[in-house]
Amino acid sequence: MEATNPILILNNAIIVTMDSHNCVFVDGAIVIQHNSIIAIGKSIDILTQFTSISHRIVDLRGQILLPGLINTHVHTSQQLARGIADDVDLLTWLHDRIWPYESNMTEEDSFISTLLCGIELIHSGVTCFAEAGGQHVSGMASAVEVLGLRACLAESIMDYGEGLPASWAARTTEECIKSQKDLFMKHHNTADGRIKVWLGISSATSEISEISPTVTSRFVNSADVLMSQLFQHIVEIPYENQLIVETRGVDNGTVTYLEKIKFLQNNLLAAHTVWVNEKEVDCLAKAGVKVSHCPAAAMRMLGFAPIKEMLSAGVCVSLGTDGAPSNNRMSIGIY
Ligand SMILES: [Zn+2]
Repeated sequence: MEATNPILILNNAIIVTMDSHNCVFVDGAIVIQHNSIIAIGKSIDILTQFTSISHRIVDLRGQILLPGLINTHVHTSQQLARGIADDVDLLTWLHDRIWPYESNMTEEDSFISTLLCGIELIHSGVTCFAEAGGQHVSGMASAVEVLGLRACLAESIMDYGEGLPASWAARTTEECIKSQKDLFMKHHNTADGRIKVWLGISSATSEISEISPTVTSRFVNSADVLMSQLFQHIVEIPYENQLIVETRGVDNGTVTYLEKIKFLQNNLLAAHTVWVNEKEVDCLAKAGVKVSHCPAAAMRMLGFAPIKEMLSAGVCVSLGTDGAPSNNRMSIGIY
């Protein structure tokens, strides 16, 4: 007869704990009960300790066990768009391919797209991801609930500018901000706490993503009030720096501008952050901004951020994939 609370022992594995001492057990075992890990240690010690308790052993000799990977830059809504924007520059990618696609999505489309994306993420060892911002957070949240992943979800706002799809251009800045707050109240900490909702601004400039200059500081205030995290794409291409210099009264690029308006702070996750100078790297470090580096997207279209300099300056750098149409793959680990 099966025990009421069966204990599962994963035995004989190489276990990379990533605990505070970076312990690695070459012949290790993990004990699981009620979907929780209750003990980790050397196989011999674990088996001695649990020998009198009903348990099932799975032999994992030759296998490596490590904590789930965290992908810090994902666009779940873009999963169905894999391959629609190959071999084009970023502005063509956005204006002619991705915006028309994303602006025609329904909540159900987003749910299906997120399900597919999540399956691919799980397959590559990911247990948690940060969504960079789509249009239907409720659809994403429903999918995450089913997938069992942890996720930080964000809506992407674009509140003005020429060339925006009609359904986005029709929304006022007020509506965009209210929508994000409403989504926070509706979905934050749901799915047993697995879902967090962040506030998202697609990027700092018009032309790239159409954000009015006043909206960013209001977002900082909203995030402070809600104690939420912020997400933004920052300087993916040199043209963004050029636009910022031309339109925002600073003699350097986006990071200099964001520092000036006090947008850089330790609750901000910045994606890409490719085109930054030494002084701007110091600004990011001083403010505690976290950077998501997406090597595949960098190789494909954007160029590489000064990652070595960022790490030397103390910036927390993590890895992401970006969305499927940015690299046609969703694995941050093994290909
Ligand atoms: Zn992105």
